[in-house]
Order: sequence, then structure tokens, then C-alpha cells
Amino acid sequence: MPDEVPGCEDCLVEGTQWLHLRMCQTCGHIGCCDNSPRRHATAHNKATEHPIIRSAEPGEDWSWCYPDELMFVVSPS
Ligand SMILES: [Zn+2]
Ligand SMILES: [Zn+2]
Repeated sequence: MPDEVPGCEDCLVEGTQWLHLRMCQTCGHIGCCDNSPRRHATAHNKATEHPIIRSAEPGEDWSWCYPDELMFVVSPS
């Protein structure tokens, strides 16, 4: 996890708003959640088939596997 996440990479490019941030575990792409208008994390999964994201929200340590539609925690703290 980078300490400073400026925001959803694609929203910053498009000038749109995001709600919550998700990080791709394959390439580190930061995208926004499915409650955000543009749903860039899911769009990134569809575009790249990178299978796993994790929450980039402070205090949240869950991950989500798209192919399995499964939520899991890698290392509970
Ligand atoms: Zn976004
Ligand atoms: Zn990715």
C-alpha cells in the first residue's frame, strides 16, 4: 500500500468524482468502487482481466476476487 493515494487514477484523468478507492493487486492501479459513478476498479478488471483488488480505504484490509466473486482478507491485523 502506498502511503499517499491521490485518488482514482482514471477519475483524475477524466475529472470525475469517486467515492471509495480500490487497488489492483496485479499492477497497483488505483480505481474507484462500484458505488462511484464511473466504477473504474471494475472497468480495470474488465479491461485487463486482473483478478484481484483490495480496498485502499484506511483501516480496510479486505480483498475481492472478481472471477470467484469472493471477498477475503490476506493478513488480518
Ligand atoms: Zn474512478
Ligand atoms: Zn491491474
